Amino acid sequence: MSEAQARHSVFDGVSAAARAFVERDHQLFIGGEWVAARGGETLSVYEPASGECMCEVPAGQGGDVDRAVNAAREAFEGGEWSRARPVERERLLLRLADAIEANADELAEIESLDQGKSVGMARNLDLTMAVDFVRYMAGWATKIDGRTVEPSVPYLPDQQFTGWTRKEPVGVVGAIVPWNFPILMAVWKVVPAIATGCTVVLKPAEETPLSALRLAELAASVGLPAGVFNVVTGDGPGAGAALSGHPGIDKVAFTGSTEVGKLIGKAAMDNMTRVSLELGGKSPVIVLDDMDPQAAAAGAAQAIFLNHGQVCTAGSRLYVPNREYDAVVEGLAGIAGGMRLGSGRDPEAQMGPLVSKAQQERVAAYIDSGRQQGARVAAGGGCPDRGFFVEPTILADANHQMRVVREEIFGPVLTVMPYQDLDEVARLANDTPYGLGASIWSNDLARVHRLIPKIRAGTVWVNCHNVLDPALPLGGFKQSGIGRELGREVVDLYTETKTVLMSI
Ligand code: NAP
Ligand code: MG
Repeated sequence: MSEAQARHSVFDGVSAAARAFVERDHQLFIGGEWVAARGGETLSVYEPASGECMCEVPAGQGGDVDRAVNAAREAFEGGEWSRARPVERERLLLRLADAIEANADELAEIESLDQGKSVGMARNLDLTMAVDFVRYMAGWATKIDGRTVEPSVPYLPDQQFTGWTRKEPVGVVGAIVPWNFPILMAVWKVVPAIATGCTVVLKPAEETPLSALRLAELAASVGLPAGVFNVVTGDGPGAGAALSGHPGIDKVAFTGSTEVGKLIGKAAMDNMTRVSLELGGKSPVIVLDDMDPQAAAAGAAQAIFLNHGQVCTAGSRLYVPNREYDAVVEGLAGIAGGMRLGSGRDPEAQMGPLVSKAQQERVAAYIDSGRQQGARVAAGGGCPDRGFFVEPTILADANHQMRVVREEIFGPVLTVMPYQDLDEVARLANDTPYGLGASIWSNDLARVHRLIPKIRAGTVWVNCHNVLDPALPLGGFKQSGIGRELGREVVDLYTETKTVLMSI
């Protein structure tokens, strides 16, 4: 196939609007304007089902980050944004939600082309959740308040005081996000920043920069003042490191791997920049012995295969009681073996490609290491020739000495292990450096309630997995991160508390 033919087939069935956006001449969005990157270098953007290059985006560098941070600082300290009343921030965010909703079909296509996920999933999950979350945060803009306190200052008994606290915006935020849910991860950071009165510079992942650029365009179209939301595309070591270590930002909000999260945390600490980290996971799925093995297999398949396993909370370690073990593994092998692979625009496909060649190779190397360390491949294990696909894979008879059980794979690979009793499974579930999510599958309420407090994880699901709500906090115990996004907790991530004590 010639390059032109390949490019054409990438856009088969894609709307003219989405194609026109993807193929446009992309620039950085700084201070309310589209500007070229100073260095003039670019990054190629690939369509994962074919592996074809669709377009280029600027590879922003330190100088571009400086410019964006300055624009965000100016908007934060002067101009209309610093005087915008909470109700105006609320109104702008409600308008932004409407704009995303009105363009959700096109955004879903852009996300599918860029990330590889199906258009249907992008539309129903990523975009719907993004719109709901923007509306949820819009509501918070007018509900951020402090406390009044009756002081009893012990060493000045003859004086009277009154005291209160104020929640003030933390300032200029640097947001760095990964490629698994590009627009949703961007919205989870940019929107709380706007709701609280901060300004923000966003660096999307180099693999998936497109929806962030479209989001910036929509934000400008609803009247968000210049400099409040800036986007610098580029790679991690270039634009990302320049942003997270920038002395001009007040907070860095990061989602990504634990490894990079540690680098970001260290860089932030040098400037005492506030930092929140949503990092990796190796979440356990715990089946109790009252579950029907087929229902358990179906639940576990959903827990691991959502977004082709590229989910921070993916249920990647399955624990099954000895007695049900063979039946559950067999059920899972049937489900995984029967899944149809295809592009994000193929309505019949049940699983799409991984985001990049590098990720495909990384996941394939993990599957090999599992084999070498003695796991049994009960389904999948291979990679088709074209595109960045990995077959849905079940690694049975795994154990805690194996790398596939200890390390985050971030692909459609499930490890399965038998267990004897509740104490043993609680110990195994916690035998990991991570602590992001976990699920328990049972209708035995007493045992479920006994198990929940024993699991060291930020979220415990019962009879479901990977289900999120804008009003419920999300974040990690242990090496899965610091801080909580979503829910009322996210307001704390973007505000400083100021104490006022007045002698009266
Ligand atoms: P990653 O390599 O850590 O990258 C995440 C972001 O950080 C990307 O934008 C990346 O840029 C940037 N980056 C890389 N090196 C950097 C550096 N030295 N300084 C500053 N920024 C840098 O993670 P990923 O592989 O893209 O994403 C998968 C990971 O994200 C998984 O570990 C997953 O568990 C985690 N995740 C966590 C959550 C959560 O809520 N806890 C949600 C989603 C994903 P480039 O990619 O452009 O180089
Ligand atoms: Mg990366």
